[in-house]
Amino acid sequence: MVKRKELVAYTNQLLQIDRFRDYAPNGLQVEGRDEIRVLASAVTASYAALEEAAAMGADALLVHHGYFWQGEDVAVVGMKRRRLAMLLGHHINLLGYHLPLDAHGVFGNNVQLARVLGIQVQGSFGPEPGIALLGELSSPTEGAELARRIALALGREPLHVAAQDARPIRRIGWCTGAAQKYIEAAAESGLDAYLSGEASEQTFHAAREMNIHFFAAGHHATERYGVIALSEHLAEKFLLQHHSIEIANPI
Ligand SMILES: [Zn+2]
Repeated sequence: MVKRKELVAYTNQLLQIDRFRDYAPNGLQVEGRDEIRVLASAVTASYAALEEAAAMGADALLVHHGYFWQGEDVAVVGMKRRRLAMLLGHHINLLGYHLPLDAHGVFGNNVQLARVLGIQVQGSFGPEPGIALLGELSSPTEGAELARRIALALGREPLHVAAQDARPIRRIGWCTGAAQKYIEAAAESGLDAYLSGEASEQTFHAAREMNIHFFAAGHHATERYGVIALSEHLAEKFLLQHHSIEIANPI
């Protein structure tokens, strides 16, 4: 058991939330009960995830995609009212960690995805230091073969756009979620491939024209692992029960 205050203070400090300029508040987003014994985790605080958290008697739900995004309508109506009513009605604390959870050196989505895909992390690239990572595969791998490995590891078929010269892949960059915009920085860094969660129409042309393999492996699928790693750590440290909630999402 841990006091909400202590859990939030510890996690905020661990993820160094003050270092980030983010599009949503990091930390405690909705206050629930004072003491936490059961911690649930999910990628997104969707209504379906809240229902599962409530059903298992969770005192807190830790997510990567919480609420109160920059530019969103602030009125508490419709979908937002239903979600907040569910949380408040069950006194569930909602903790949201966005960029700090992508970037963390141990529990972060990017480091955790590398572990799942068997990529050795060597550093980061791109305009925001520490967000997009680069590393190496243990041996040069054909694009189609890497696509098969990704499908096996994530349980979802990735979209693969082959590099113009279809060369084998050794050095790869990646950034989970909707980070397809870093493909140009990846190509400029001389990487053989770039992997993100989502793709845009123009990503196809960038991959072809800049001669780099591109993989869109799913926004949800690439961001599953950070919340689980972080929650398992918190559960161990504070002797909590942890339940991971998986709401399937093909995007
Ligand atoms: Zn995301």
